[in-house]
Amino acid sequence: MPTVSEEAVLAALRKVADPARKADIVGLGMVSGLVVKGGNVAFAIEVDPARGQSLEPLRQEAERVVQALPGVTSATVVLTAHRAGGPAQPQRAPQGHAHAAPAKSPAPGIRSIVAVASGKGGVGKSTTAANLALALAAEGARIGLLDADVYGPSMPRMMGVRGKPSTPDGKTLEPMRAYGVAIMSMGFLVDEETPMIWRGPMVMSAIQQMLRDVNWGELDILVVDMPPGTGDAQLTLAQQVPLAGAVIVSTPQDIALLDARKGLNMFRKVDVPVLGIIENMSYFSCPNCGHRTDIFAHGGARREAERLGVEFLGEIPLDIAIRETSDSGQPIVVSQPGSPHATSYRGIARRLLEKLAPAGARRAPPKIVVQ
Ligand code: ADP
Repeated sequence: MPTVSEEAVLAALRKVADPARKADIVGLGMVSGLVVKGGNVAFAIEVDPARGQSLEPLRQEAERVVQALPGVTSATVVLTAHRAGGPAQPQRAPQGHAHAAPAKSPAPGIRSIVAVASGKGGVGKSTTAANLALALAAEGARIGLLDADVYGPSMPRMMGVRGKPSTPDGKTLEPMRAYGVAIMSMGFLVDEETPMIWRGPMVMSAIQQMLRDVNWGELDILVVDMPPGTGDAQLTLAQQVPLAGAVIVSTPQDIALLDARKGLNMFRKVDVPVLGIIENMSYFSCPNCGHRTDIFAHGGARREAERLGVEFLGEIPLDIAIRETSDSGQPIVVSQPGSPHATSYRGIARRLLEKLAPAGARRAPPKIVVQ
């Protein structure tokens, strides 16, 4: 199989012109972050934020010419906008339109998209997203898992999947599959060791592509593992992906430090319903004797949720078994389905399914008949 060189990619891109500036995108210095790994090519095109979406045809053309090169199996091109000399600027809704309806679903076969978010990294958001996706699947729902945590994609490892997605038609990617769940992650497209610097708009563009260009098929729920935190990239994502709702994962400490509240406020600002809060690492479960020890500030999430009028969905203990199973690619919901922790995740999954069911599908309350 022939391999492709960076020079060959750049030579091909010299034939792609920016229509407004009437010069090629390489000569204009718009191509950045070129990564060639085997047959996989990825790069960004830097554009003026004001022109943003109007350059989608340019992005597609760049992708097409690179895809056509011998030895290229996949081409991933993202648009990134930045102000000369200034920090990256996300695409914001215009003033006064912060509550505009989300964009049309980029994936028509998906019934509901649910974000799993956290106020900061390291609280167990990805672990929770993986186990929740598996618990929802175990309840009989058709589930996809989109790893939008492009800064540190962990789904390939947690779900125990390796390899590269195939693209039978050369346009869309087939999702990877594990335990009956369809999965897509940047981790499948680039090496885990490849350092990636993502600017806000680039994150959005990569995520939009993973939604739009992946053959998700028919799904009841697509679980999105969000990038951690509540910065511009997360806000843009919450604004632009048509989310049915969000689940906030927090640790007792994190809620005490107000980080989780930031996550909540972010979704409220863009009118995405917060389906509830999960307290992770809620208490310590001793691996030897099973003894339960409460952690400082345990219960904070429940109190905070009550105070804020958000449902408290449940608590998951700090248990080495949860870490070991997800580190080894066999999350606890599938590897120890009878365990109390798997049962907790299943309980949360059932509650989410109830909350997401269309109004007509909800079971009618029992009628009281007075005789
Ligand atoms: P985040 O996505 O919030 O950055 P991760 O899901 O990657 O966090 O979790 C961070 C680390 O904590 C991982 O090593 C994970 O296995 C571990 N972890 C997450 N939740 C638990 C838990 N309930 N018990 C024990 N370890 C956990």
